[in-house]
Amino acid sequence: MEYFQPIVARVPGHHPSPYVAPNTDIIKLNSNENPYPPSSQALKVLKTFNGEWLRRYPDPYTQEFCDAAAKVLEIPPNWIITGNGCDDLLNIIVRACVDRARSVVYPTPTYGQYRILAELCGSQLIEIPYGIQSSLPLEEMIQAKGALTLIASPNSPSGHQVPLTELRQLADNVSGVLVVDEAYVDFTDASALSLVRDYEHMVILRTLSKGYSLAGLRFGFGIAQPPLLAGLFKVKDSYGVDAIATRVAAAAITDQLYKDQCVSQIKRDRQRLTLALQRLGFQVSPSHGNFVLASHPNARPIHDDLKSNNIWVRYYAQLSDKLRITIGTPEQNCQLLEVVSRLLR
Ligand SMILES: *Cc1c(COP(=O)(O)O)cnc(C)c1O
Repeated sequence: MEYFQPIVARVPGHHPSPYVAPNTDIIKLNSNENPYPPSSQALKVLKTFNGEWLRRYPDPYTQEFCDAAAKVLEIPPNWIITGNGCDDLLNIIVRACVDRARSVVYPTPTYGQYRILAELCGSQLIEIPYGIQSSLPLEEMIQAKGALTLIASPNSPSGHQVPLTELRQLADNVSGVLVVDEAYVDFTDASALSLVRDYEHMVILRTLSKGYSLAGLRFGFGIAQPPLLAGLFKVKDSYGVDAIATRVAAAAITDQLYKDQCVSQIKRDRQRLTLALQRLGFQVSPSHGNFVLASHPNARPIHDDLKSNNIWVRYYAQLSDKLRITIGTPEQNCQLLEVVSRLLR
């Protein structure tokens, strides 16, 4: 007896990295979490949360967050949709746009969730490899004529950022919906946000997991013109984001000063770590995220050695000899470098 529909029986499913409880001595640099605590303003909301808000169902439109984000981003509040993390929004968009007869297009290597979500919809996947130096395969992506085109910028694991002119070219020429996943936008200077005004088929995705140190809250949002959002609202859970997450996220996004402080520190340390790894013989391409992708012929043993020293980084077997290392605190980065240089000596 097969309990599941054929697609579910066939797909490999998720392989998240093992959960590490806080206050263990593992230095976790494998999931691009922010090493600094969330905003004290956000934590204050959590500590003083009124139970009456939990007795009731939450606001399905998360107005409090949308108003706060709209102010910060200088966009209308009704151009925002929220979800339980950027992953939830990706799920909503894929379900809204794709079926067996409608394909999903994205350049590879990229965020692994795109494939999993598209496979579950039975969609045809059109994966197009990035060119050398992470050049975007623009022509092929346009020719592929996807119902949905996904692009992470800055991308993971490369850290590459797609120039705005190329995103505009893509937006001018793709059929269907174009998603620009800006999970790492806080660690770079450019954003595709200004394009949303010009393109009714474009969605920008953001998350509070990385820049705002709130990966455990599960809060993300999308920005698009209201007619496109109307379709996505039909697919999202009627309530979706919970009352606590909505209020904590609103406080966090309002506290731009704190986020900017953490981000400047991380950008400085990204530069330091890049140089130090290069001195140790790694090839490190410039990154626009809170991580670096570092190549070394001994990447595998380095990964294993770090792990046995309680330092976790991500090894990409399919990218041959590459490690993706999250930028930690200066102390954590130092410990990582110490272990690596000891091994290489
Ligand atoms: C981390 C990440 C996400 C998921 O973010 P959540 O809000 O934590 O679900 C989406 N896209 C990319 C490219 C990411 O790196």
